[in-house]
Amino acid sequence: MKFITVFILIFSQLAVAHSDHDWRTDYEAYLSVSYESPLFDGLSINETQKSNRLDMKFFKQKLIQFSQTEDRRALTNLDTAREFLKQEYLKIGFEVNLQNFGGGTNFIAEKKGSVHPEKVLILSSHIDSVRCKGANDNGTGTIGLLTVSQELAKTNYPFTIRILGFDKEEIGLVGSDAYVASLTEKQNIIGNINFEMMGVNSRNDGSFHVIDCQKATSVALTNTIKSSIAKLGLPLTVVKACTDRSDHASFWRHNLPAVVISENFFGGDADPCYHSRCDIVDDRLNYNYMTNILEAVLDATENLLLNK
Ligand SMILES: [Zn+2]
Repeated sequence: MKFITVFILIFSQLAVAHSDHDWRTDYEAYLSVSYESPLFDGLSINETQKSNRLDMKFFKQKLIQFSQTEDRRALTNLDTAREFLKQEYLKIGFEVNLQNFGGGTNFIAEKKGSVHPEKVLILSSHIDSVRCKGANDNGTGTIGLLTVSQELAKTNYPFTIRILGFDKEEIGLVGSDAYVASLTEKQNIIGNINFEMMGVNSRNDGSFHVIDCQKATSVALTNTIKSSIAKLGLPLTVVKACTDRSDHASFWRHNLPAVVISENFFGGDADPCYHSRCDIVDDRLNYNYMTNILEAVLDATENLLLNK
């Protein structure tokens, strides 16, 4: 009996150790958390605040549609998700492509720059999920990015905007690793902003992660987002933490600027439905919070596309 218990314990530890893209087991990331001031209390957030620019009705509608498939590891479900994104990005005038990398397929949409099309800002999200509909992980990141793109589509920018829907993030950043390795002119990449799950803010304190691990290549991206938060007066607090468990890390491996944005996962406000069957569109997703994050990133993106 004792043996069996020990065996189960060892086996469960091994199982945890192998799922090393699971954010819950990134113990160093929890230890790296620090809050930037000011920290907003829930009372200071005006619940009736409406987005100035982003169409969050569109966001909700598309999030529901995107989250209809049960498990975006199965090829048919991933194909459905990519076809859905293809139609949405064609509607807003982006060119659409697929990159097969052997074992998977990345989705690519692009709006060419009008002055220096060779300079590219990459906005990304992973489109796969783990045994669930993945409404938050990573429906909110993927549809948040689509909603930001809808606004970016209205202006001509000097630099190119490239959207990446990465495949096979959840099994080890496979899609982004293949994609970044395939880039021929890496010096033309302005940077990458990677959209992760951003729906849960149960403490209503506006805390969210902008993760750069204080890399010299990448802190400027964080500063651009912070400037936008200050300029727009958004009730958000940036929480530092360090993790390489999403697609931004594939850019870091090639010394390219990248950050990942997400809910305050490592600050103790992670989605209770992370990688669980209850990751559906329901009341735990906070639309005001997501509006604020997306407004900040939209503004930061425009600054990067205009000023770089
Ligand atoms: Zn994710």
